[in-house]
Amino acid sequence: EGRVRFRDVEFGYGPERPILRGVDFDVAGGGTLAVVGPSGAGKSTIARLLFRFYDVTGGAIEIDGQDLRGVQQTSIRAAIGVVPQDTVLFNDTIGYNIAYGAEKASRDDVERAARAARIHDFIMTLPEGYDTMVGERGLKLSGGEKQRVAIARTILKDPPILILDEATSALDTGTEREIQAELRRLGQGRTVLMIAHRLSTVVDADEIVVLEAGRVVERGRHERLLALG
Ligand code: ADP
Ligand code: ADP
Repeated sequence: EGRVRFRDVEFGYGPERPILRGVDFDVAGGGTLAVVGPSGAGKSTIARLLFRFYDVTGGAIEIDGQDLRGVQQTSIRAAIGVVPQDTVLFNDTIGYNIAYGAEKASRDDVERAARAARIHDFIMTLPEGYDTMVGERGLKLSGGEKQRVAIARTILKDPPILILDEATSALDTGTEREIQAELRRLGQGRTVLMIAHRLSTVVDADEIVVLEAGRVVERGRHERLLALG
């Protein structure tokens, strides 16, 4: 459940030279794949394709053996949770920000999910917790706090597949380490696609794919890639 397969994927946003060429990987359900590489390499494009914002122009993407082109975008969105790099919060309460996208969730559901995700304590450290107004006219959250709200929002959906698109890249090292540790715990039992530009953030991925100019130039586990320099 949650197996993600890229088969020789090619993609271009327009008729010019393709952005991705021959991208091929296979993540077992519950496994973790990291994609690292310089800015502009095509990492986020991989996430967008998995989310089916666009269709591949060559090759195929499969989830549990099913070609994405035959799957409705709504069911793909239900199966995939994304934590982006910069979370934009709504000018509303923390509770609304966490429950956004889960219209049927009651405050109890949110509480339960937050507790299950063990982010409840964090939320309760803020004045008045869920009812705290954030955004322009409310409390200004730090980058790390915003990412925790984003993580809570995503985990509430309980998605079998989790995309972390530079989820901690903008944070200071200490906060990044803390949130990465939480994400490791929250990612257990889910298929995780981690996008990062530093090898140091993806230490325990089952496989790391190094992307340069749209091509996979190296792959392996952390220790092997470190040894390559
Ligand atoms: P990364 O995440 O590795 O920084 P991206 O996947 O965001 O890279 O982008 C890869 C390439 O695709 C870049 O050259 C970028 O300019 C280009 N690109 C990204 N989005 C679009 C778009 N919507 N239309 C055209 N080109 C795009
Ligand atoms: P939902 O209601 O399912 O949360 P939205 O309609 O609010 O979705 O927004 C579309 C989704 O796209 C959001 O979950 C957002 O986090 C996600 N997203 C943002 N950046 C990326 C990306 N690079 N790749 C894939 N999805 C992304």
